[in-house]
Amino acid sequence: MYFHLILTDDCNLCCKYCRAKVFEELEENNEKNAPSIVIDPDLPGELNFDLDLLYNFLKKDPASTLTFYGGEPLLRADLIDRIVRVSPVQRFMIQTNGLLLDRLSPDIINRFSTILVSLDGQEGLTDANRGAGTYRKVMENIKKIRNNGYTREIIARMTVTESTDIVDAVNWLSDNPDYSFSSIHWQLDANFSHDFSHRRFGSWMNESYNRGILRLVTEWVDFMENEGTVLRWYPFLDPMEDLLRGQKSLLRCGSGHSNYSIMTDGNIAPCPVMLGMSDYYVGHIRDADPQNLKVITVNGECGNCRILEFCGGRCLYSNIIKPWGEPERRLVCSTVENLHSGLTNVLPRVKNLIARGRIDLADFSHEKFNGCEIIP
Ligand code: SF4
Ligand code: SF4
Repeated sequence: MYFHLILTDDCNLCCKYCRAKVFEELEENNEKNAPSIVIDPDLPGELNFDLDLLYNFLKKDPASTLTFYGGEPLLRADLIDRIVRVSPVQRFMIQTNGLLLDRLSPDIINRFSTILVSLDGQEGLTDANRGAGTYRKVMENIKKIRNNGYTREIIARMTVTESTDIVDAVNWLSDNPDYSFSSIHWQLDANFSHDFSHRRFGSWMNESYNRGILRLVTEWVDFMENEGTVLRWYPFLDPMEDLLRGQKSLLRCGSGHSNYSIMTDGNIAPCPVMLGMSDYYVGHIRDADPQNLKVITVNGECGNCRILEFCGGRCLYSNIIKPWGEPERRLVCSTVENLHSGLTNVLPRVKNLIARGRIDLADFSHEKFNGCEIIP
């Protein structure tokens, strides 16, 4: 089982699209559409339970993965250091803004199987969203940890807004002079319950984003053909592997079935964003069985969707809080339909490359539930 561990609610950045905005929207939306959603006002801002409880909980699962999460988890580098040294888990991962990666010693950093670093693309775009100087500092830290012996996966995790040209941003991260990311994931900033009328999401989606995705899909397959390499662009990689294997998918981020989140008070939520949403907690680390946690599934419109087995439901959190009206939900779902259509169109070409031995089905293998939501 996969677990996010929320170390702190605090952050050293104030990004335009961050969780503070999500919470404002949730409160407004609560009054309008979802009066039954309860937020625990007493949830501590910092991890506040005996770590032995955590170790005893994790020990019950011989194959657990722990992903450090915040806020910015590296603000609690002291806790990460302690937990990595003694925690009985199979693998560690971290989702970080990357600014404080130099706070951990190489022997701890080198224990991570995956590091997800938030970057939005080019320096100007990243700094406009995340603060001046962010891009340079993150790149410096990435080079530093590579020089210190970190050889495993670093995923650039982008948040995509109307300021993003998805083709330029992905290509920049994939192939640029500062550091070339072979692993990239992106997520739409689509939680617009009360700011939709101020945004140009619909026109940007139609004119820029959806077309850009189709172009990137073609570039992705061209690269397979020309270089014999499957780039780890997660919104393509994970669904394409399932299409090739003929597999259906549950919610691709794993929330509520394979990936749970330990809150700062030890309660267990289906997803790391569902902070304090106590009605959806599935237990507490003091007595829950990590291998037998309640499954929470998406419902509503997803149940009748023709591409549910491809999409998986996109986002359990959104499915519950419904941060948009029906027209906005349709817009977001149409990005999934566009992705589905782009990938199914190139499926015969990919199968042909495998049949010719240019690439191998195994090239699509990856760690599931590694912090990438997969469906943007
Ligand atoms: S495309 Fe939309 S309706 Fe369909 S499964 Fe995904 S989130 Fe649900
Ligand atoms: S996609 Fe939604 S349900 Fe999944 S981790 Fe992100 S916020 Fe949670």
